[in-house]
Amino acid sequence: MRAMTGCDFIVIGGGIAGAGAAYELSRHGRVVLLERESSAGYHTTGRSAALFFESYGGKTIQRLTRCGRAFLQSPPDGFAEHPLLTPRGAVFVARADQLGVMEDALDHITTPGLTRLDPDETVAQVPALRRDYVAAGLLEPDAMDMDVNAIHQGFLRGARRRGAEVVLDAEVSAMTRRDGRWRVETRAGGFDAPVVVNAAGAWADVVARLAGANPIGLVPKRRTAFTFPAPAGIDTARWPLVIDIEEQFYFKPESGNFLGSPADETPSEPCDAQPEDLDIAIAIDRIERASTLQIRRVLTRWAGLRCFVADKTLVIGEEPGLPGFYWLAGQGGYGIQTSPAAARALTGLATEGALPADLAAAGILPEHLSPVRLRTDRSDAS
Ligand SMILES: Cc1cc2nc3c(=O)[nH]c(=O)nc-3n(C[C@H](O)[C@H](O)[C@H](O)COP(=O)(O)OP(=O)(O)OC[C@H]3O[C@@H](n4cnc5c(N)ncnc54)[C@H](O)[C@@H]3O)c2cc1C
Repeated sequence: MRAMTGCDFIVIGGGIAGAGAAYELSRHGRVVLLERESSAGYHTTGRSAALFFESYGGKTIQRLTRCGRAFLQSPPDGFAEHPLLTPRGAVFVARADQLGVMEDALDHITTPGLTRLDPDETVAQVPALRRDYVAAGLLEPDAMDMDVNAIHQGFLRGARRRGAEVVLDAEVSAMTRRDGRWRVETRAGGFDAPVVVNAAGAWADVVARLAGANPIGLVPKRRTAFTFPAPAGIDTARWPLVIDIEEQFYFKPESGNFLGSPADETPSEPCDAQPEDLDIAIAIDRIERASTLQIRRVLTRWAGLRCFVADKTLVIGEEPGLPGFYWLAGQGGYGIQTSPAAARALTGLATEGALPADLAAAGILPEHLSPVRLRTDRSDAS
């Protein structure tokens, strides 16, 4: 156990959110990142489907995703050895009874390049789709696969190069604020800084309670994924992601195999989420009804917690009444693709009290992200 370590910023949580925050904050002072597990990225970050698509989520999510695209497309020298994004494309599919849902979706998607497809055009994109299942399609040609591990490691490596310290096996168990500084206790020792960032993923409300902050009503929701063999004798490598317009299932090529999901959202306590057989069976049924893919064997399976607040948008900002306590939570199903912009938003707010100019120009306001928007009793928001 070491003696008290003083620094400028303490980041709690070593997933993509905490890693991105450490990377950006380390430009402004000394950062210590505290991660409970023996490897950063063990929880939701290591369990994603690794897709970047700008049409996903509400308006603020779409804007954050777009504002992070340039970083992922052309990261700074030394950030990663290989491209972080590779072309994939995404096709949303609707059955006849879902055509109204597709029209509604089009009302709030502002993604450039989104193209309507008729049933024949949809099946031409993914020949395994059943022609009698598909009533309409929507192509997002610029959707990309992400190298999540490279992004996560790039953030951590870059932060370390600027002097940040990443402390593993360091679960935060207590926090107090005195004389303008937060004192944070872990089994790896105590840490002390004027600013603390809560990037604890599914545990963000648990960590908030330790600090005496009001919870934001975060609900972790289990999502299951699995891989299965690609159909033999066909080159499927360039097929786009297929996703049901109501997000009832999706599938895509993945490293020579296929990745599938029932797109489940089962509320859960914060935990080490595990897949359930029933969810995999549901996914197989839905994928086989929509396509001619035959899933005889599941190769790997996993589950992770996607965490949402009521409006399904990220929570980034200072807790009212608790100076120096910042939220970086509620990453939902878009925490990887929004990570570059979310990290810069957090850093702008924590160091200058304002969002970076490009985010503001994209129409993102601090109040779109602030925890204050979630409180029914706003008396604490002064
Ligand atoms: C199946 C699936 C598919 C997905 N697909 C996509 C996708 O295609 N695109 C996309 O952008 N996103 C996707 N996501 C969502 C994305 O993975 C998450 O939004 C993102 O990983 C959340 O990152 P995080 O850092 O907030 O959480 P986490 O990765 O869970 O990190 C939080 C960390 O905080 C640590 N922690 C908690 N409490 C403490 C404490 N007291 N002290 C110290 N450390 C603590 C935890 O151990 C954990 O490591 C998907 C998720 C799932 C499950």
